[in-house]
Amino acid sequence: MASNIYQMVTDRIIEQMNAGIVPWHQPWVGGAAMAISYTTRKAYSMLNQLLLGKPGEWLTWNQIQAKGGRVKPGAKSRFCVYCQFVEKNDVPDDEDEKKRDGYLILKWYRVFHIDDTLGIESKCQAVEPGSNLSPIQRAEDVIAAYLQRESSLTFFHEEESTSAYYSPSRDEVVVPRLAQYQLAEEYYSTAFHEFTHSTMHESRCNRTSESAITRFGDSDYSREELVAEIGSAMLCNRIGIENEKAFRNSAAYIQSWLKALKNDNKMIVWAAKKAEEAARYILGESLPEG
Ligand SMILES: [Zn+2]
Repeated sequence: MASNIYQMVTDRIIEQMNAGIVPWHQPWVGGAAMAISYTTRKAYSMLNQLLLGKPGEWLTWNQIQAKGGRVKPGAKSRFCVYCQFVEKNDVPDDEDEKKRDGYLILKWYRVFHIDDTLGIESKCQAVEPGSNLSPIQRAEDVIAAYLQRESSLTFFHEEESTSAYYSPSRDEVVVPRLAQYQLAEEYYSTAFHEFTHSTMHESRCNRTSESAITRFGDSDYSREELVAEIGSAMLCNRIGIENEKAFRNSAAYIQSWLKALKNDNKMIVWAAKKAEEAARYILGESLPEG
């Protein structure tokens, strides 16, 4: 286990990608059936969804003991992380973590999936029937509501276009026409990618200073690009857009992100947090605490 928590997190993501899995493309990530805490019944953060790699109920060792259960022989735990606020007396050596009155540090703890325990009864109830709307109609509704709230943002999608991008200077999202896509799901995953970029605007989630790249929509594997990838996946999963049709997990895609993650061990922590903020902003939801 790496001594640096950012490296530990990055290594866990890399481990999955080396096995051909893109953690943010897992169909349950951000969807209706996410990884949740058995005790609090709350869904874990986006970053923890990526780290845990499996939906369902998770418990700490102590929670299992308190419930009179035990861990199956040979079962392996996973780790998840949380942020802790520290007063400013000890100045951290890390510039990124400095805040005005203190700073946030990442901490981690171990959890076990309920499938790897004995004597713990699941509290999951049958999934409620979702709305009657098709995922495509739901995606259209989310886009329409977002555009209505964001009056300065324009969306061009009626004309032939060879590229999809967000222009920060014009506050404009451009995507090729739906008919140009083989699958409608790809059109929506592309549109949500660009809409996620649009939340960088200072009036929205304000990532302009942090996203130190000037052009979007190209193949710049930056932190902001990863925010858009994770944000799009979270939105598609939430809406119920068929994941396998919306995303292609090509070997080239995996290799590019492996390289980027290896070069920047804070990328995934930052991008998962910002992507969650962005997706919730587009959905018109408030962020949970913590
Ligand atoms: Zn992009």
